[in-house]
Amino acid sequence: MAIWNPWHGCVKISPGCYHCYVYRRDAEFGKDTSKVKKTAKFDLPLQKNRKKEYKLQPEEEPVYTCMTSDFFIKDADKWRQTCPFILNRPGRFLKREKRYITLTGKTR
Ligand code: SF4
Repeated sequence: MAIWNPWHGCVKISPGCYHCYVYRRDAEFGKDTSKVKKTAKFDLPLQKNRKKEYKLQPEEEPVYTCMTSDFFIKDADKWRQTCPFILNRPGRFLKREKRYITLTGKTR
């Protein structure tokens, strides 16, 4: 399973966020989850291995992203534009679908 977390942190938007595991885990380490920050893995889609192949192969398997945030959170607007391969692949955007449509002009 490929994972890419380009940023960390989130803002609760619905009752479904009440038991958010990101908030719970961050609280254990004294981190403020409401502050959204780029991670050290932000440029992972551009990184290559020793064979000069991209480490992430989104054509071969799903890339699970933003598991500690939300890809369409407003705080990440300034970074999201550098993620065109994600924006061109609608996939399943369940939480902030209106933001996906607003930002890309696409529907699922
Ligand atoms: S990570 Fe998911 S559950 Fe947690 S606050 Fe963000 S949207 Fe809600």
